[in-house]
Formats: sequence, C-alpha cells, structure tokens
Amino acid sequence: MQNPRTRTKPRYGGIYIMKRILNIETVKYSGKEIEVAGWVNSIRSHGNILFVDLRDRSGLLQIIFTPKEESLYKLAQKLRPEWVIRVKGKIGRRPSGMVNPKVATGGIELQSTDLEIFSQAKTLPFPIDTPGYEISEEKRLKYRYLDLRRERMSKNLKVRHKVMQLMRDFLTEEGFVEIETPILTKSTPEGARDFLVPSRLQPGKFYALPQSPQQYKQMLQVAGIEKYFQIARALRDEDPRADRQAEHTQLDIEMSFVSQEEILDLTERLYLNVVRKLFPQKRITKIPFPRITYKKAMEKYGTDKPDLRRNKKDSDELAFVFITDFPMFEWKKGDKKWGAMHHPFTLPQTDDIKKIKADPGKILAFQYDFVLNGYEIGGGSLRTTNLDVFTAVFEVLGHKKQELKKQFRHYFEAFSYGVPPHGGIAPGIDRFLAVALKEANIREVIAFPKTGDNRDLMLDVPSDITDEQLKELHIKTTKKK
Ligand code: ASP
Repeated sequence: MQNPRTRTKPRYGGIYIMKRILNIETVKYSGKEIEVAGWVNSIRSHGNILFVDLRDRSGLLQIIFTPKEESLYKLAQKLRPEWVIRVKGKIGRRPSGMVNPKVATGGIELQSTDLEIFSQAKTLPFPIDTPGYEISEEKRLKYRYLDLRRERMSKNLKVRHKVMQLMRDFLTEEGFVEIETPILTKSTPEGARDFLVPSRLQPGKFYALPQSPQQYKQMLQVAGIEKYFQIARALRDEDPRADRQAEHTQLDIEMSFVSQEEILDLTERLYLNVVRKLFPQKRITKIPFPRITYKKAMEKYGTDKPDLRRNKKDSDELAFVFITDFPMFEWKKGDKKWGAMHHPFTLPQTDDIKKIKADPGKILAFQYDFVLNGYEIGGGSLRTTNLDVFTAVFEVLGHKKQELKKQFRHYFEAFSYGVPPHGGIAPGIDRFLAVALKEANIREVIAFPKTGDNRDLMLDVPSDITDEQLKELHIKTTKKK
C-alpha cells in the first residue's frame, strides 16, 4: 500500500525486510523483536491500552498498543475487524493474571513498535466467529472467501488435505502410481447425464467431462500399470438434489490380477489407517468391516445402505460395511429397459451369454458398495475383459452391436492386445469427510461447492457467453437471453 498514512515508518509498504513469523511460532521468540502479519480478529481497549487479537493461518496473537508511542497508537486506534496488517514488536510474557490457557499463545503478547496497514475491510456480510450454521447458505456461498475464514471451515479444509495426503502416502507405500487422466474426454455410461463441451476445432463435435476416469483407468491396466490411483473429480449433470454436487472428488483406484477380496481388504486397511491417524477418538463398530451380500442386506435391513452403528446417538461411531454381489442389471420402469446397476464394465458372475441375455434380472455381478453410517461412500467392481460378455451386457442395455463397436472401439482394440483381469473401487472423499467431521452436508467440506441446482454463487456460474464465443463454437441457442 502506497499511502504513507497507513504506516508508521516509511520504509514499509508491502516490502518485507524481516522474516514474517507465524503467530503460533511467536512463543519461541520471548524477549525478541519480530514481525507478524494477518487479520485483525478483534479489538478491545482497557483504560488507554489497546489490545488487538491478530489472526493468521496458525491462530491468534495478542498485540498491545500503548500511548507511549503516539503516532503508532493513533494509527492503531483506526484499526477495525478484518483489516490486514503487519506489526513489529517485542514478544513479552503476559502479567500472570492475564494468561489465557485456552489459546496457544495465551501466555505471551506482542508489545508493538511499528504497524503497517496493508488493507482495510468493509463490515463483513455475516459474522465469522461462529460455526456459521445459522447464516443463510446463499450468503455463505456468495461470500465463500469470507465464510472460509471461520475456524470450522478452515479446519475442515485442513482435515480434508490431511485425509488426501494420508491416502496418497498409503497407496504410494502399497506400490500404486498416481496418474492424471483427461478432463476433456468422451461420454462414459456411469448412469448420469454428461456435461458437454463444444469443440471449436471440430465443428459440431463435443467433448464430455468425465463422470469418472473409469475408461482411462481400465486402459491403464492394459498399459501394464497394474496399480493406479488418482484423486479425481467426477462430473455428473445430476438433477437438483440437496446433497449432491455436480462435481465430487473420488479416490479412484484400479488394480490388475486381484480378487474382489483383495480390493476390499485394501480399502479397509486404507480407511482404518486414515481413521486411526486422523480421527483417533472415533469408535469403529466392527473390524474387519462386515461384508454383506446385497440380497441379505435387502432382506435384513430393507436397504443396500444399512446403518450398522450400535448406538446411532453416538456421533463418534463409524460403521463401515461392504455390500457385495449386487445384481448386474436393474429394470428401469420409467424407460422400460434394463440399466446397469453400477456400470456396464462390471463383470457378471457368469460368462454364459445365453443366460445373461435370457434373464438379465437374475444375473449377479462382482460388484460392491462401500457404506458408512447409512451412506454409500464408494463403489466398485471387477471388470469384464471377455469381449463376448462385454457385448452381451451392452446388448441387454439396448445397444446395437455395430454402434457399440464404434463407441467402445478402444475397448475392443485394447482388450485384443493382452488384457489382465482387473478391478477397482472409487470411494468418494466428500461424504466420508462429512461423516467423519459430523457435518450434515457435503458442502461443508468442499472449498467452493455449488448450490443444489448447480450454481456457483460466488463467480455467478453458469453465466452468459458472448455471441462471438457462440459463433466460434458453431452453436446457436434456442433460449433467448
Ligand atoms: N467408476 C466407478 C464410479 O465412479 C467406480 C468404479 O467402478 O471403480 O462409481
């Protein structure tokens, strides 16, 4: 900031001369002169002493301004909540009656000698010193960058990071390779509607955003990777549902030469590792996680997502369960046709093509869901590598052989060059985090979520584009602006 009235000494102005020390680290600098920076969290005055709590990513630090240094004191009196400042001063012990054991820096304070105001702040549209549930979600999403300043939200993001880091470390240790797959791709039948992206260079053609990396991860098995994972975004144009997101994050896994049980075992060890390291206070209902067939789950609990917690009031209980042996197909009443219960790449439990075609409703699949406290938090399957079975499955789903060979040409070709048996799973990270963090909605664990009807209220998306852009994309809209 160039305005000299916002700082006490002219050499400042956004230029750092001393190393900025994090609030949490100031405890190590007793008696030393240091510089800190952050947001004004709160201001109190007692007599003629001004107490400012400075907030940075590590926590709070109490700063003291006294009238001894007049110009500094005068400037400090201008401070308001959420202004961004830097302060130089000396770390001293607080008088014994003033110690606050609840704050990590509660035994010390910074006696200021210099202050610079980087930027001022308007009054925020809502308070950020509460958990924030009482504030309208529209507002919270519109001003997400402010909403994320609240302690609960920044903690959620940090825990999310730690969970993903642990998953990465665990799988890397197990010999997995993290591989990115394209975002501009081809429609994959995962059961939802695709988001489409018009191609400028190939007029009239479209990319689809991936509903999951399913096809690529299978191609990576043909490529000999054997153990793949990716923290991947799955994009699905779902109809409005309060607790769904157009994009969700999956821990996408695929492995060659494995049994179903090996995949479930890996998933179990991975989640036990995450829970034990990051949520040690949680009680896991049953280890090993129960494996229950779909049939049994439906008979016993009337759902394929049973909540097996012993005490549903105990919010620190985690009941993981695998539901196995799903039917391969389900009858879609509305469309009057068969759909894949999971997706068409799933391996049926028979390779008798006649049976598959004659009575699809009876065919089970090597398919499993991963369920936590009554929520489906992931799903996966072994995959079909026999092209005759592959074709039969798609035929049941209503595809014509010839068009199938065209749409999935890469499968027909790739699988003719030596394909290992393979399978995988894709646990969703958002829902797991919401349950672990006791959040009712997955939006509470996502930095920039969309509303139930897929709008980003902060950037105002989806938005209009210009006529030139449309023209370039060879697109005419029928809807008037
Ligand atoms: N692609 C699947 C999904 O997104 C997961 C899998 O079968 O591995 O649900």
